[in-house]
Amino acid sequence: MQALTNAPAGAARGVSAAARPLVSVVVPVFDEAGTLPELVRRLTDVARTLEVRYTFEFVLVDDGSSDRTLTVAEGLAVLDPRISLVSLRRNYGQTAALQVGFEHARGDIVVSMDADLQHFPEDIPAFLDKIEEGFDVVCGWRADRQEGVNRRWPSAAANWLLRRLTGLTIHDIGTTFRAYRGDVVRQLRMLGEHHRFIPVLAANVGASIAEVPIKNIGRPVGASHYGLSRTFNVLLDIVFLVFYIKYLDRPMRVFGRLALVALAAASGITAVLGYIYLAYGVPVVRERSGWFLLALVLFVSGIQFLLFGLISEVIVRLYFYPGQAKPYLVRTVTGNAADVRR
Ligand code: UDP
Ligand code: MG
Repeated sequence: MQALTNAPAGAARGVSAAARPLVSVVVPVFDEAGTLPELVRRLTDVARTLEVRYTFEFVLVDDGSSDRTLTVAEGLAVLDPRISLVSLRRNYGQTAALQVGFEHARGDIVVSMDADLQHFPEDIPAFLDKIEEGFDVVCGWRADRQEGVNRRWPSAAANWLLRRLTGLTIHDIGTTFRAYRGDVVRQLRMLGEHHRFIPVLAANVGASIAEVPIKNIGRPVGASHYGLSRTFNVLLDIVFLVFYIKYLDRPMRVFGRLALVALAAASGITAVLGYIYLAYGVPVVRERSGWFLLALVLFVSGIQFLLFGLISEVIVRLYFYPGQAKPYLVRTVTGNAADVRR
């Protein structure tokens, strides 16, 4: 297990603090003025009970709130120097807010949680214990989830699908109440709504993943920022995720296979139509026009898939080795030109 030292932050806090790992609690906040004071109060209470073992900082990210969240957060930050406040210019979404929060978190351990009090600060010690056991990412598991079936069933289906596709064994991949080893979370580069899939992204780079059961309640104040469309968005994200973790360095394996299936089907149909024409003299283009059109569509699709595969192979070369390709290879250079720095 990697040692949890607290070099730069601890140095400024004196000798005793230096021995204690720094825990950064990152909280994305969007229109949560009603819950923020209680959240921070409970977080400070928890931090106090753990002060022998850890030092704490709290990174609140205001995601372009339109209520009094920013004013409330500024007021709280004045009272407690451990609170950092990052304020985004507009509402960018939970993923962007978390990404920014992670980039500003200096902790040896980083904890992410929601601001709406659905996550209990009192559960943080259990996360930290698991990290101390040596895990890189510890996920909260809403074992006794208190939300309606409209939330629980799509989530259960998505978790089942993700476990099948990614080999992860934890129950609750999507909840954002988690703890991470600092170096693991700081290498994440998330886009879209990928905050839900951090365990998958982390496992993909070799992180060890564990889970702890957490308390869960319905939202005490306000309403969720997500509606039913989340279900469909998650399905689309899962398609991308499978591509990302399995085929990012070999996209032709996906598009090439699709191309082969389409072209094989097109060839099969064309062969049968050709046989019918030659053996029985049936004018297949006119009398079997449906099959003829199907073969045509499959053929065109197959070619498209193949070209998509080729383009993707070029793009991922740009992604992994940007600016490194040259369209030629020099054998030798003699004369003054040999001194030219390249
Ligand atoms: N959130 C955010 N930006 C957004 C939407 C949500 O920072 O655009 C924050 C929100 O303030 C909360 C957390 O993300 O702290 C989870 O949001 P919510 O409770 O609406 O999601 P749910 O619990 O329904 O998944
Ligand atoms: Mg919530």
